[in-house]
Amino acid sequence: MSQLPFPEQAAADAAEQFPTPFYLYDEAAIRANARRLHEAFAWCDFKEFFAVKATPNPHLLRILQQEGCGADCSSLAELVLCERLGITGEEIIFTSNDTPAEDYRKAMELGAIINLDDISHIDYLDRLTGLPELICFRYNPGESLGSDTAFIIGQPQEAKYGFTREQLFEGYKQARQRGVKRFGLHTMVLSNELNSQFFVETARMVFEVAAELKRELDIQLEFVNLGGGLGVPYKPDQEPVDLEHISSGIRELYQQMIVPAGLDPLRICMENGRYMTGPYGCLVTRVLHQKHTYKHYVGVDACMANLMRPGMYGAYHDITVVGKPASDSDGVCDVVGSLCENNDKFAIDRPLPEVERGDLLVIHDAGAHGHSMGFQYNGKLRSAEVLRRSDGSFKQIRRGETLDDYFATLDFSEFPAQPEVAQASSQ
Ligand SMILES: *Cc1c(COP(=O)(O)O)cnc(C)c1O
Repeated sequence: MSQLPFPEQAAADAAEQFPTPFYLYDEAAIRANARRLHEAFAWCDFKEFFAVKATPNPHLLRILQQEGCGADCSSLAELVLCERLGITGEEIIFTSNDTPAEDYRKAMELGAIINLDDISHIDYLDRLTGLPELICFRYNPGESLGSDTAFIIGQPQEAKYGFTREQLFEGYKQARQRGVKRFGLHTMVLSNELNSQFFVETARMVFEVAAELKRELDIQLEFVNLGGGLGVPYKPDQEPVDLEHISSGIRELYQQMIVPAGLDPLRICMENGRYMTGPYGCLVTRVLHQKHTYKHYVGVDACMANLMRPGMYGAYHDITVVGKPASDSDGVCDVVGSLCENNDKFAIDRPLPEVERGDLLVIHDAGAHGHSMGFQYNGKLRSAEVLRRSDGSFKQIRRGETLDDYFATLDFSEFPAQPEVAQASSQ
């Protein structure tokens, strides 16, 4: 089983205070993990820009900010969220694609590092707001570094993101001609990757381009951004990534490639989301019903609208039944929610201890791309988020949605309070 970030009892204690379902995040575990990442890269000028889309909650962003992280934003809302926390300027990298003008305007207003997704956006942004002093381009190498399965974000040549290699060189020339003074280079070719060597290979690819940009165009990059994608071992047989291996591998390449190219000091950035919060947040839900038909079903009060990863990607999440050891498993069941969609399942054919109505289930590793992917289909409401603070106390960091929230975008003023049909039949 993957480890819970807090003692099992903490989920039960929180459930005394907050109605299920809710997300429960662990502050101490988030901080400790962020520190491990920074310590692993202490040999260089390293910066993690937390991918806000993973967990766009100001309380969690504040914790990561205090741990030295910047923010990776890709939309207007994410920019505004950072602005409201005082995260501005080069503490933000704006990595967007198919970008609306409004989003660029906001990113420019905040002084964010602008990471362009396409060569045509140099001219687009220049006309819109003028170009910033510092610009970054997203590189799509067009070929894989590792195994096919490594690229669950898609094979690079199938991915919509980034500049081709030719466009990249042309782009830096154009930007310099238009007065840009400072440069960065970005790529993101891995997603939820657990093979540590692939991160070293990503650095090799980016360092090689950096050295060539220096040689061919005399572009002195200030930073390279290796993207996010550090994986989470969701499945019991998976090993976590080896930060030491990644760091020492990159360090060796830095000595071999960056120093001789005259690019030292070069800042190394990443923009992980999942790795920063994924294992440190869980979805806490209660058993509503059980049903025995062709299979055995455990129905809970959360559904795919609260956590869509299993339904959307077939993702695996461990499940703990509070107070019942996993070793007591007797037979398998499907753990399901109440959506009228048959893929609304948190687990399929999962061995679980015998459960009863009212039992608490903790769905592991839901702290990234969990609540933030929530939706309201079938009239389901997004749940509250709760933080377990370092002292063990609980704080609600987002309230659950109410029916009023659900109806807030509708205007009922044209409709009589009493349905006409009901009135007709009562006359
Ligand atoms: C989603 C995303 C990330 C974060 O990905 P994780 O898998 O959560 O690390 C980083 N950068 C970009 C550009 C992204 O789209």
